[in-house]
Amino acid sequence: QALFSQVPLAPPDSILQLPIRYKADPAKQKINLSVGAYRDDAGNPWVLPVVKKATEIMLSDPAMDHEYLPIVGLQEFTSAAAKLILGADSIALKEDRVVSIQTLSGTGANHVGALFLSRFYAWNGPRQLYISNPTWGNHKSIMINVGITPVDYPYYDAATISLNLEGMLSALRAAPERSVILLHACAHNPTGVDPTQPQWAQIADVMLQKAHYAFFDCAYQGFASGDLDRDAAAVRYFEKRGVPMLVCQSFAKNAGLYGERVGALHVLCADKDEATRVRSQLSIIERAEISNPPAYGARLMAKIINDPALFSQWNEDIKTMAERIISMRQELYDLLTKELHTPGSWEHITTQIGMFSFTGLNAAQVQIMIERGHVYMTADGRISMAGLNSSNIHYFAEVLDKVVR
Ligand code: PLP
Repeated sequence: QALFSQVPLAPPDSILQLPIRYKADPAKQKINLSVGAYRDDAGNPWVLPVVKKATEIMLSDPAMDHEYLPIVGLQEFTSAAAKLILGADSIALKEDRVVSIQTLSGTGANHVGALFLSRFYAWNGPRQLYISNPTWGNHKSIMINVGITPVDYPYYDAATISLNLEGMLSALRAAPERSVILLHACAHNPTGVDPTQPQWAQIADVMLQKAHYAFFDCAYQGFASGDLDRDAAAVRYFEKRGVPMLVCQSFAKNAGLYGERVGALHVLCADKDEATRVRSQLSIIERAEISNPPAYGARLMAKIINDPALFSQWNEDIKTMAERIISMRQELYDLLTKELHTPGSWEHITTQIGMFSFTGLNAAQVQIMIERGHVYMTADGRISMAGLNSSNIHYFAEVLDKVVR
């Protein structure tokens, strides 16, 4: 008897389908802007020089072995990671009430964070979590997997290609007290639209008025501005304001360690006693889920963050990536506005932040970009700026120009 005859065929992941189509496309001129991974100016993956150096040091250590890490991960890594996001003068860190555990990159941090909340959060009504519309495609699935219902809050205004602050604030005001609100710490995926500091202040006001809980997802620290501290500003500001929160942290993008799955979850607790209890439960969750996290990337990041010389080299490498992306934004803007005189307004190309840009193209236009231009991008009009380089940006601008005319 066929035991799985009832299993319906699931649709393929819409984003991960695009690189497959790109590969199969025989066109000579083609561009893949669909996936959020950094590429250098030759279009190749980039191993950060600091990662090469740290790898050499790690592998030449005769004491290196392949033993299990502790359940909640490598302590030198998790404590350095906490300081990196919360800042050396975080009050919660000084008062020793932050629980930090190592996770399977940012995805794992989101998963464990959500699983922990689903079991232990003081829910006021149904288990639901507010996410921006739009958001990273995986947020919804991660929440649904742990029995939490995702609910959209307005975020992006397609008409102005910018933040719909009023819509967002009124949704947060209308949500029941103690709601859990997912916020992108910086470089919002997929829109590239972040709140300004005064806008964060307004968001924090409402979070405090309504006693909401902030579920920060930080997948791009350093990638937005090129500066690790500047990109942590919203998280640090919320801590200062006393908004209760957890933070999901990924080193996939800012250290180029995508496949090594290195990340952390930080839960800011009210006091040391609460932290002890929260740590004990997170440890049980982690044990049942993965037993203990992978060592390789955590060892690299512990070395890179804790060694002053490596840390300063990392900051340079991050700047290299962020500045290349920022320069691509400027060049694309100049091509569209000064050379091709493409109809429409393109300011958003340079005001948006981080890896992604929402071009404003609709699904039908995207279809033409792919089929006639061989430019692969997601149906929502998002492009990965990191896929543009000096040899393909002219071609991209020309295709875009033709499609919008
Ligand atoms: N959160 C956001 C907003 C993302 O864009 C991503 C990756 O694209 C992640 C989390 C998780 O990435 P990873 O699991 O590779 O760290």
